Amino acid sequence: MAVTIGYDQDCKLQISGLTCDCPCEHHMPTQDIYVGTGLIPKLPGYIQKRGLGTHCVLVCDKNTYEVAARDVEQTLKSAGFDVILCKIMREGDVDPDETACGEVLLSIQPETEFLISVGSGSLTDTTRVNAVRTGLPFVSVGTAPSMDGYTSVVAPLLLHGVKIHRAAVCPDIIVCDLDILRTAPLSMVASGVGDVLGKYIAKADWIIGNIINDEPYCPVCGEIVTDAVNKLVDNADEIAKKTEKGIRILIEALLLSGVTIMIVGHTRAVASVEHNVAHYWEMMQLLHGKKPPQHGSSVGVATLLVWPIFQRFAKEDLSRLDLQDIQSRRITREQRVKWMLKAYEEEAGNSIMRENEGDFLTWEEQERRIRRAQERFADIKAVIDDLPSYDRIYAAMKTLGAHLTPEEEGIDPALLNLSMRCAKDYRTRYTLFKTIDECGLMDEYLKDYPLL
Ligand SMILES: [Zn+2]
Ligand SMILES: [Zn+2]
Repeated sequence: MAVTIGYDQDCKLQISGLTCDCPCEHHMPTQDIYVGTGLIPKLPGYIQKRGLGTHCVLVCDKNTYEVAARDVEQTLKSAGFDVILCKIMREGDVDPDETACGEVLLSIQPETEFLISVGSGSLTDTTRVNAVRTGLPFVSVGTAPSMDGYTSVVAPLLLHGVKIHRAAVCPDIIVCDLDILRTAPLSMVASGVGDVLGKYIAKADWIIGNIINDEPYCPVCGEIVTDAVNKLVDNADEIAKKTEKGIRILIEALLLSGVTIMIVGHTRAVASVEHNVAHYWEMMQLLHGKKPPQHGSSVGVATLLVWPIFQRFAKEDLSRLDLQDIQSRRITREQRVKWMLKAYEEEAGNSIMRENEGDFLTWEEQERRIRRAQERFADIKAVIDDLPSYDRIYAAMKTLGAHLTPEEEGIDPALLNLSMRCAKDYRTRYTLFKTIDECGLMDEYLKDYPLL
């Protein structure tokens, strides 16, 4: 059955056709997600319906206060809510760091019943981690369609300038008012588009993981993501003009990506090697005291970088592989440890290796995977051939005025080359980059990315 989405009279998102008999364990999302216009006046009703109480801490910053939080505050107060305002004051952007998280924590009182964040990624994550620590439910009012994290259960944060991830909770209520989202700068809109375009690669890698390693693949989640991203590419100019229709398509794509995470309990449908590249850039820039690129924007650029590698593989002839030669060129476990510590540096390198133990393959396992890739090459090719053309993706990003190159993201050639080489090593999650490496073809495919 096809997945269809619609809205009830309250603008609450309704998804039908989610029944699926794939081997993945499915959980139906229980959050209330509202998308529409003129939603702020309805907020008290949404909160009452969910029974969250009347005492809240409202988290915002200087910008989002002007954009929406002032309205939210007044609306809630007029409806009899007790609102403690936690306006995080910073010059420039608020980072989700210990200071911001601490400000929220110190605003919470014994009588506080729920938290409400008005903002995009950073403010939502700052609130999210406080919600999980205090056990309070939270409401997210989105202000920019810039990333797919509204529905996330993980909070990416900064501690002493180092990126950390903390298990957290999804908001009980997500409110995306299109008139508010439309006021977001085009660069944030373009960033949201970049994050969504990466889903093409994520989905392809998921199916390839199914082909090579019999990893369970959920066709319903695959369909949700594909429909959303196709619609987005078809409407790039509406999005660039920030029309109501365009912004609705974008925020739906971002929210629905998040819904797949809730359904299958992991991010397989929404993040793969393109996210690994983007995470690597962010991690290394932070580690070296530089400004990290914006998440969605760098995912978009990374998607453009890995796309031609996928397309080239579709033309590969795997019968040319010399298994003995591949075996003789294998790196040892010691060499791999050295490589990981060079690529990811001491702390991250060690923790990635600890968390992805099985990543150094035995030759038997590598050989099995190579033979599977050879036997099932037609299926892998079909997955890649199913992707839209590179030109179409590039054109969509250009229409949005999105960043197109690593330079625009502030990434120098040495970091770029290293990122392309070590993206496959970021986690166990299977990707075509692993296939290429396991087939002994990495140097050939990445010869434009020499280690400097
Ligand atoms: Zn993302
Ligand atoms: Zn399924």
